Amino acid sequence: MATKIAYVEKDDCTSCNMCADNLPKYFQMDDDDLSETHVNGEQINNAEIPDEDVKAVQDVMDECPGECILWKK
Ligand code: SF4
Repeated sequence: MATKIAYVEKDDCTSCNMCADNLPKYFQMDDDDLSETHVNGEQINNAEIPDEDVKAVQDVMDECPGECILWKK
């Protein structure tokens, strides 16, 4: 399976914090209160998501009010 990389289209983020609250392992808010993905504080907004966590990230994507958490194509 190809590596899945998750990122946030920050222009569309509503700063609701839902992703960072529910899945802090992969989402954090930046200094402008916009979400970004990470892995252990690295791979900022370019996070490789291991297969076992793809569903958890997808669930957050599906709930994001800005529809701005995306898989890199
Ligand atoms: S859930 Fe979506 S809109 Fe809310 S903070 Fe995360 S990326 Fe932004």
